[in-house]
Amino acid sequence: MIKDFFLGFIRIHILFHASQAPVYGAELTRELARHGYNISPGTLYPVLHSLEEQGLLRTYGEVVEGKVRKYYAITRRGREALTEARKKIKELVDEVMVNENDK
Ligand SMILES: [Zn+2]
Repeated sequence: MIKDFFLGFIRIHILFHASQAPVYGAELTRELARHGYNISPGTLYPVLHSLEEQGLLRTYGEVVEGKVRKYYAITRRGREALTEARKKIKELVDEVMVNENDK
């Protein structure tokens, strides 16, 4: 169950970062590790694929140091999904964090 939550959070992180600038796999792995999510490529790439299949991200290749690097850019639909997610996150945070000291 915890893994399901984290996968949702990870999807939102990815969408958020792609909304700032196009991202690539190794960069996302580092960024997610910074947030405490140590995810393997075997977890990350299926998430990226599903975001792409849902039309929230699109990919393109760019040659970097002689190798093609695959970038993921947010789509218009991705931005809309992020806007919706932000509203839900705010509502969720307002609710679950308000009585954080009540155990
Ligand atoms: Zn982040």
